Amino acid sequence: MPTATPSVIALDGPSGSGKSTVARGVATTLGWRYVDTGATYRIATLAVLRAGTDLSDADAVAAVVTGADIRLSTDPARPCAELGAEDVSAVIRGPEVTAAVSAVSAVPAVRSLLVDLQRHLAGVDGAVLEGRDIGTAVFPDAPVKVYLDASPEVRASRRAADGDAGVTAPAEHLVATVSADLARRDRLDSSRAASPLSAADDAVHLDSSALDAAAVVQRVLALARDAGLVE
Ligand code: C5P
Repeated sequence: MPTATPSVIALDGPSGSGKSTVARGVATTLGWRYVDTGATYRIATLAVLRAGTDLSDADAVAAVVTGADIRLSTDPARPCAELGAEDVSAVIRGPEVTAAVSAVSAVPAVRSLLVDLQRHLAGVDGAVLEGRDIGTAVFPDAPVKVYLDASPEVRASRRAADGDAGVTAPAEHLVATVSADLARRDRLDSSRAASPLSAADDAVHLDSSALDAAAVVQRVLALARDAGLVE
């Protein structure tokens, strides 16, 4: 753990809750770093898949991730994921990585490595981190913690509309297929032993089902002001 928690806004919640849009909006407004922790798990998963590693072999998975050169831009205007020098921003959103990422992220040694990387990426001058365990494990002392959620229907529609939902299906079945994939990942992410998806006891719960992103950004900024993080 770092000795002091820097200015951090922790934004947790399931896929499709609107975390990325909100986190980027808040980071842009404040001029802070933006850390998409899900992207670090996705890049690690791509490395594991490319190595042909058996996903059920936790030691082998951890060994590949230890040796992987995982890079992530923290500029909210230009999020970019790299494995070594290769821009993998698009491929990490594809169906192969999406299908495997929950298995890779359940490996405790992988989490420990990537949490260190995420803390390093946050820096010390202000950062908005989005993920599943920011308020519980990455920055448990974050002065602002938000747990963002939305109804299953709204989450599935948003992911389907994104065009990078990580599933392949005919247009008429897309929302139903995305919905089933979100339910599968929620189940795996919430039930794993190491840092499962869960709201911190002191997180503020926001439901974005009926709110647009700009309204949620304003709520989070108000919480940051209340906490004395910004003027
Ligand atoms: O946010 P995104 O959908 O890109 O996250 C992909 C996956 O990474 C999640 O389904 C989860 O398995 C994992 N993850 C995690 N902890 C985080 C962020 C993401 O386990 N802080």
